[in-house]
Amino acid sequence: MSIAENVARIKAEIARAAIAAGRDPKDIQLCAATKMNDTAAVREAIAAGIDCCGENRVQELTQKQSENAYEGVPIHFIGHLQTNKVKQVVGKVGIIQSIDSLRLLDAVNKEAARQGICQDVLLEINIAGEESKSGFAVEDIHPLLEKIGDFPAIRVRGLMAIPPICQISTENHKFFQKIYNLSVDITAKKYDNVCVDILSMGMSGDYADAIACGSTMIRVGSAIFGPRHY
Ligand SMILES: *Cc1c(COP(=O)(O)O)cnc(C)c1O
Repeated sequence: MSIAENVARIKAEIARAAIAAGRDPKDIQLCAATKMNDTAAVREAIAAGIDCCGENRVQELTQKQSENAYEGVPIHFIGHLQTNKVKQVVGKVGIIQSIDSLRLLDAVNKEAARQGICQDVLLEINIAGEESKSGFAVEDIHPLLEKIGDFPAIRVRGLMAIPPICQISTENHKFFQKIYNLSVDITAKKYDNVCVDILSMGMSGDYADAIACGSTMIRVGSAIFGPRHY
């Protein structure tokens, strides 16, 4: 299957899952997770109609940006970002989806302020409290947002999560629903500089479930580009 065929199939599946959930398919963005795929592959996916690209590693981001790989769509950072690399990412991507600690939030805020910009971010939630994954605990989010005014160069646009892989497909619904519920609570509180219009959840194996639970952005890699060769 070509990249274009894969994107077409995924878009049809997005529409099916959205309509089944009583949602408008237009409310779900397809973010291509482009890690380990080269500029030619990224361009094919963009031509096929993906909505944005998500890159995991700073080095790949910088390399592909120098080749104009992402022309035509926004580029987001979706991988773990080390604080010593924020300079290479802040102001260079539309959204940093993977803000996973207060320390990183602080570093991004400082760099954005230095550049005189406001950086859009998502807060990454470690929804199942897994040791192997980074991200904020659900209970950390409201206390953090109460202090978000301390980070004036940051605008929080939503939440991102990577729930555990579940054997039974509907088992993951409880994780996706927890994130959705958190986003509803956040919206109700009307924090300054916080506008939770993006719920980034769902990947190649579980995006239909994520859409059923309210996802507005799915991050899909292997289902578009084929398996990655590490
Ligand atoms: C790689 C990656 C994805 C996509 O994973 P697939 O299973 O290949 O769809 C999504 N989100 C993040 C953060 C990733 O690193």
